[in-house]
Amino acid sequence: MELNTRAVHAGREDLTDLGLHAVPIDLSTTYPARDSREEAARLDRAAAGVELGDNPIYGRVGNPTVARFERALADLEGAESAVAFATGMAALSACLLAVVAQGKRHIVAVRPLYGTSDHVIGSGLLGTEVTWSTVDSVKRDIRDDTGLVIVESPANPTLSEVDIRAIDVDVPVLVDNTFATPVLQRPIELGADIVLHSATKYLGGHGDVLGGVVACDEEFAGRLRTIRMATGGILHPLAGYLLLRGLSTLPIRIAHASGTAAELAHRLADHPGVARVYRPGIGGPMVSFDVVGDPHAVIGAVRLITPAVSLGSVDTLIQHPGSLSHHIVPEQDRHGAGIGDHLLRLSVGLEDVEDLWTDLDQALQKSYPHES
Ligand code: PLP
Repeated sequence: MELNTRAVHAGREDLTDLGLHAVPIDLSTTYPARDSREEAARLDRAAAGVELGDNPIYGRVGNPTVARFERALADLEGAESAVAFATGMAALSACLLAVVAQGKRHIVAVRPLYGTSDHVIGSGLLGTEVTWSTVDSVKRDIRDDTGLVIVESPANPTLSEVDIRAIDVDVPVLVDNTFATPVLQRPIELGADIVLHSATKYLGGHGDVLGGVVACDEEFAGRLRTIRMATGGILHPLAGYLLLRGLSTLPIRIAHASGTAAELAHRLADHPGVARVYRPGIGGPMVSFDVVGDPHAVIGAVRLITPAVSLGSVDTLIQHPGSLSHHIVPEQDRHGAGIGDHLLRLSVGLEDVEDLWTDLDQALQKSYPHES
């Protein structure tokens, strides 16, 4: 079946036979069982990464509502499995811990990445050592102890793209697909091994749920479940419900917001207060742009658009990466990754394009000296 259909139905295949329409939310923290010997054997299987299904012993091990979201996301990404976490950063941390645990602590990564991803990979906080690379030199930078290649495409916040097919290495390639979503890009079809999402963004889609998810083969998923069970970063069941609901409108939200973003990008390119506009070749609802004048004045002047970090909501959000999403990255590295001090990042929502343009234009007018 096609993607639009799967976005609505994946993870819900059994509901009609259960006599249900909405997905049940299982809030159990524990699962009673009379046979302790059998539970001990099941616990061993869970610790080895096996997904236990409807009675996962304890809420940190697994959850049936979360498992529905995992099945749906794996389906949309064309992956064997998916493992869901409390946030995108918990998901990325589990991937790093999974390779470090196997003695592969070296990471090859391409900038830019989301600021906190850059920080957690580059700081060595979780025991990794990084080589910052380019798509052309990834192969040369691989070592015997390299555990992962990590790229973001389109990248936060410059929207630069990586030719995923061109990364031809024997090491697992992880693509952060948060900005593209499976609607615009399915990295596994392009040769990647692991797909990561901050589900907080487009998958949830309404700015009211935190989550992260990794789509991959069952072998790596098992390693992630082992780590999730030990470190406790599982997604909350209510978040699992909201994310599954978000998936059903994902294609239509992305299509609508992408059209509005294309029109705004076009108008921004002609605006005297804008020096440069950044748009990914694959399209999508994100637009970044360098302003001629003071970026902080734009943030302070918007009235309809929400001045906030994050992205992927029904309302349009604007933020200054140098101050927020990428503030944690040292200035020199930020500039080296193409993130200038005049850059603003716009996450286009579902409002009418004319209302958004009126707000953007009046905010830009206040940001640079000109005769009005
Ligand atoms: N990856 C990307 C591309 C992001 O933009 C973000 C957050 O902004 C993350 C990962 C981290 O996700 P979370 O905030 O859900 O931990």
